[in-house]
Amino acid sequence: MHDDRNLVEARLKRVLEERIRPAVYPETVPLRVEIWVAPDEPVPVAEGLAAPRIPISVGDPWGAPWGTSWLTVSGTIPEHWAGRTVEALLDLGFDANMPGFQCEGLVYLSDGTPVKGLNPRNQWVRIGTPVSGGEEVVLHIEAASNPVLQDYHPFQPTELGDKHTAGDKPQYTLTQMDLAVFDDTVWNLVQDLEVLGELMVELPVEGARRWDILRAVDRALDAVDLQDVNGTAAAAHERLAEVLSTPAEPSAHRISAVGHAHIDSAWLWPLRETVRKVARTTANMTALLDDEPDFIYTMSQAQQYAWIKEHRPEVYAKVKRAVASGRFVPAGGMWVESDTNMPGSEAMARQFVHGKRFFLEEFGVDNSEAWLPDTFGFAGGLPQIIKAAGSKWLLTQKISWSQINKFPHHTFWWEGIDGTRIFTHFPPVDTYNCSMLGREIAHAARNFKDKGRARHSIAPTGWGDGGGGTTREMIAKAARMRDLEGSATVRWETPAAFFTKAQAEYPDPPVWAGELYLELHRATLTSQAKTKQGNRRSEHLLVEAELWSATAALLAGVPYPYAELDRIWKTVLLHQFHDILPGSSIAWVHREAEKTYAAVAEELGGIIGRALLALAGDPGSGTEVVFNAAPHARAAVPAGGGRVTAPAADGCAVTARPDGGWTLSNGLLDVAVDARGLIVSAYDIAARRESVPPGAAANLLQIHPDFPNMFDAWDVDEFYRNTVTDLTGVDGITVTVDTPRRVSIRVARSFGASGAVQTISLAAGSRRLDLDTEVDWHEREKFLKVAFPLDIHTDRYASETQFGHLYRPTHTNTSWDAAKFEACNHRFVHFDESGWGAALVTGSTYGHDVTRAVRAADQGTTTTVRASLLRAPRFPDPHTDQGVHRFRHALVVGCTIADAVREGYAVNLPERVLAGDAAVQPLFAVDDDAVVITAVKLADDASGDVVVRFYESLGGRARARLTPSFSFTDVTACDLLERPIEEFVAVEDRAVRLRLRPFELVTLRFRRAVDGER
Ligand SMILES: [Zn+2]
Repeated sequence: MHDDRNLVEARLKRVLEERIRPAVYPETVPLRVEIWVAPDEPVPVAEGLAAPRIPISVGDPWGAPWGTSWLTVSGTIPEHWAGRTVEALLDLGFDANMPGFQCEGLVYLSDGTPVKGLNPRNQWVRIGTPVSGGEEVVLHIEAASNPVLQDYHPFQPTELGDKHTAGDKPQYTLTQMDLAVFDDTVWNLVQDLEVLGELMVELPVEGARRWDILRAVDRALDAVDLQDVNGTAAAAHERLAEVLSTPAEPSAHRISAVGHAHIDSAWLWPLRETVRKVARTTANMTALLDDEPDFIYTMSQAQQYAWIKEHRPEVYAKVKRAVASGRFVPAGGMWVESDTNMPGSEAMARQFVHGKRFFLEEFGVDNSEAWLPDTFGFAGGLPQIIKAAGSKWLLTQKISWSQINKFPHHTFWWEGIDGTRIFTHFPPVDTYNCSMLGREIAHAARNFKDKGRARHSIAPTGWGDGGGGTTREMIAKAARMRDLEGSATVRWETPAAFFTKAQAEYPDPPVWAGELYLELHRATLTSQAKTKQGNRRSEHLLVEAELWSATAALLAGVPYPYAELDRIWKTVLLHQFHDILPGSSIAWVHREAEKTYAAVAEELGGIIGRALLALAGDPGSGTEVVFNAAPHARAAVPAGGGRVTAPAADGCAVTARPDGGWTLSNGLLDVAVDARGLIVSAYDIAARRESVPPGAAANLLQIHPDFPNMFDAWDVDEFYRNTVTDLTGVDGITVTVDTPRRVSIRVARSFGASGAVQTISLAAGSRRLDLDTEVDWHEREKFLKVAFPLDIHTDRYASETQFGHLYRPTHTNTSWDAAKFEACNHRFVHFDESGWGAALVTGSTYGHDVTRAVRAADQGTTTTVRASLLRAPRFPDPHTDQGVHRFRHALVVGCTIADAVREGYAVNLPERVLAGDAAVQPLFAVDDDAVVITAVKLADDASGDVVVRFYESLGGRARARLTPSFSFTDVTACDLLERPIEEFVAVEDRAVRLRLRPFELVTLRFRRAVDGER
């Protein structure tokens, strides 16, 4: 037999493209089109429908960047179309390759009923089947002319990312506005040929199945009359029936498809546009659920449901009905699909609290899976948080993006730093935007690493990122692959149904312990410094506001600000979305975020101020009360309390050195700063131990060129390290004795177009050297770091994460170690050499790197940690990080991990001083510093119960007593949502006796005694 395979494959491609697909719509008539352009931001639907229109024609340009146009299309269905299926074809000027990244529309009826979203892969609106002929058709389109930020030449700097700089040039050309006859038979033939053609090329050439399909396709194409496709499609379809009906092999991989649109809550569009993106996609998906009885759709991010509830109630009503039917599935149980590296302990917990609570209250749904397909790496604290929220499964596929090492499992137990295990699945389809292409399905089956022990994987199916969701074509293809020889089988299933099956067939999968580090997008720990700073500050202010509000409620009867705190938490949680906090959004998003964080700080400052004013006592007393929100006592002020304190003892000094530098000393440390303003010695007097290696200098600013191969805001590529400049030039140095309790050295430098002022200061009685850095940053494509070489020999170091810390290597033995050349810390990193250690504490930065070298002179090891301060990528925000920034760091010399934990909180929760005379007793006291309280608040249900959350912070066992200062009648262990769990709480002598595992987190809820009770 002669081999004509290539010939038939090429024939299929051309006939399908040029003859069969165009025949889906054999007849069209044009619609009349009129337009009204909203003057600025989007307007309410009623206003858009009522606004006066002017005519516009197909071929005309429309749509300034970020504009909104209301189009009305109208026409009459021709009489001779009676009995046919008719659709409107509405092409706003789409590029089919850019669903979610282009103009979009939402179609309404004249009464304001939303009908369907329009996007590049969804340009049709069903008018009737069958029609009678002669009907008048009127539709209205709310069209958003969102500009294309990332096209065929991605990562080019553009000013289109903010409406203030984007200009007003029309972005699109109206391309088609027609009524059309829809030929269902031809459309089905297209789906048949696509499924078979795509499957065929994935099959082995040596196998018979490939040739069976080839011959059937050849015969089907013979049956198509190219001049009368519509009249012959049924005959062609018949010739494919046999190859479409042969069943899958018993060993075929089994794919649980779930309809999905991974909608980024902000990214290459502002938050306000996501509100509309979600409405468009959900309008489409609820319509599709009505049309397709087998289809299941899942949507994550409670925030997105809240948006449509508020802004598009008509769409939300459809969503509520669809959720009630069980086929529109709220997934993930988080407020947004957040970053998980950077959010702090409480914020990560509250993502689940607010997400799950919304789903429970709105839909009665208590979902069991965390759903984070696109998040840039997963912190080791997350498994315990997922479990404490009452969930048990996790889905993500992002780790498949790692550049260097291939992750070894697709289904596994993920074990967090405390030992909690979560059943986790990475879809082997390697995308959260599956479109049911044959190559995607074949890839999932081939790629699945757990073959032989498991058979199921999940495929989130639908256009995502910018929205769009599942299409009727994807559903038609899935139906054909339900049971098809040569293909994996495909069934629409909910995430819960998938996880239940996957866990049942694979109860003992392999275990991955520790963080799921993404070997990509490492610069998201640094880009957009002000967004990071706003997050860190807001998280701590929120915890502080809850603490003082609860204290003021119990001690002074001040009403607890439930509604305000709920709203502010949700705002801060929204901004932890995986393109906002990571700094990978357009300028518009980050400009707004900066303003939002300022408003959050102001409002929380007001809440805290009101509470403290009520607690501080007599403001005319002539004394001051120091309040300490940190979880450890500080200078005689108890954790979570306030005291009138006497001035601390003096005891620090600054002296000139013969080499032109200075020495700061306080009896604990001697710190030498040389004439370049660099720290050349930090000596622990009691331990007789130097921390800075001989010849080295700390607090050294270093600058690198930083132009990654792609993903400018996201990525830093390892070669950035090949070129470095030490910033040692000095413009001026000022030495100050601020008070008898604090001495400082201030060093001004300039470099490139930028300048920096570094302040080094030491306080009496402290092992903490405080380092403030102000940078006026005007560089492009540069990376600024501040380096601390340490004379410490260690093969690992600790980084704080949620509810604990994890260890990473200081060496690069394996490709896995080497790939972690930029990593995340929360408030500290700590280095230990046989019981003596040093820590770098950070006030707002997250990215850091650690390297080690052996010195030629004395063969000692220098371990260098560098905090990442600023970058200057030019995509998607061409002006990233330009301007003035202030950073706070501290070097703690001669410190244990417990000291590092304490100083991390101390720096991030500074004390507050108010005029007054009161001693404010903390609501809770713990008698072991290893047990750290992260939240003290009143219960969210407004019952007046007091909730406290704490964890073991050192990675060991803790036995402690937690003593409330108020009377209580009952105490229960709770999950994060403050729901009781089966866990015995030992009460003894009006205190709770605690026994904690390493890094264990515990939430307790106290019912307060009313008068007369104990
Ligand atoms: Zn995303």
